[in-house]
Amino acid sequence: MIEVKDNFSAKVLTRMKGSGHEQVVFCNDKDTGLRAIIAIHDTTLGPALGGARMWNYINEQEALEDVLRLSRGMTFKASISGLDLGGGKAVIIGDADIDKTKEMMMKFGDFVDSLGGKYITAEDVGMTLEDMRNVGLRTKHVTGTPESLGGSGDPSPVTAYGVYMGMKAAAKFRWGSDNLRGRKILIQGVGKVGEDLVKHVSKESAEVYITDINEKRLHEVSSKYHSKIVNHDRMFEVDCDIYAPCALGGTLNNDSIKMLKCEVIAGAANNQLYDEDLHSLQIKKRGIIYAPDFLINAGGLINVYSEIKGYDKTESLQKTSKIYDTTLEILLTSENKNITTHQAALIIAERRISESKK
Ligand code: NAD
Repeated sequence: MIEVKDNFSAKVLTRMKGSGHEQVVFCNDKDTGLRAIIAIHDTTLGPALGGARMWNYINEQEALEDVLRLSRGMTFKASISGLDLGGGKAVIIGDADIDKTKEMMMKFGDFVDSLGGKYITAEDVGMTLEDMRNVGLRTKHVTGTPESLGGSGDPSPVTAYGVYMGMKAAAKFRWGSDNLRGRKILIQGVGKVGEDLVKHVSKESAEVYITDINEKRLHEVSSKYHSKIVNHDRMFEVDCDIYAPCALGGTLNNDSIKMLKCEVIAGAANNQLYDEDLHSLQIKKRGIIYAPDFLINAGGLINVYSEIKGYDKTESLQKTSKIYDTTLEILLTSENKNITTHQAALIIAERRISESKK
């Protein structure tokens, strides 16, 4: 008998069975120090497209959980946005500021290439346009490469625009008007997407509150746009109309939902609900309108999808603006059927996949 030191590896297949994942690829390269996991959730609608995230995970289990959750979300995001794409995602374990090298990115490109196009990569947290360029030296299955190289560039501004559209639709549903003038908006995480969202809502003269763990970013964004800085430990004390999670996932949980002082949640982060069923229900019971994350943050995916088809920025922005109508439709369905907004969005996304299977 082989001695089993822990049952971590045995749990992977059980986890995959539960979430319906098709394939999970573990990548290790001694020379560059690359340790990555690529998860392909569902390719019914097309190749699995999803960003690569570089993060200093506490352990491998945390990295695996993240990539499984994120890739599943990509399946539904592509489906609800009407794209012929499946869901996938990659995580690279390490500190992006310290551990990342050009060679490591190229090696990651080799692993992506070995999947023959079943997984297409893109930029996510901890990755840059330059990284995508380096990945692209080894594989053609990469999107979000620099515009100077014929790519679609950084998808974040389009993501932010889509979130802004979803936020306006949620405002319309809640208050009968999508005008954000004077609305108190708390934006958590002012990175690439968060900053652009600050720009959009500031233009409408919303009252903007920002929080981030990165003090430098906070001061940069606050000095560029008129916004008030909030300490991230005390952010849920802010009495606001809209809370926009734009940092990492899982911020809607047992603790935060009790503290929330907002009427609408609309943000960019993936997997905002720590537990999809439990926490979407808790939010509904509190009478808060939640604009599903995988619906309203799809702008970036729409943008990189356009790169595969032959990039057209105007068309990609037009498609992204449709997030407004879809959000309204989903919020109405949730109200009429007395289901959570997350369930309402999931039903539409799953229906397209099951019809395609038929
Ligand atoms: P980013 O890395 O540029 O920005 C994230 C920001 O969040 C950083 O400034 C970071 O310091 C801050 N942050 C991290 N933990 C925090 C915490 N606990 N409290 C407050 N701030 C914290 O990433 P991004 O590209 O702006 O993406 C933001 C989120 O949106 C991510 O969840 C990402 O997966 C999601 N998303 C991004 C895109 C895109 O096009 N970039 C597309 C879809 C979804």
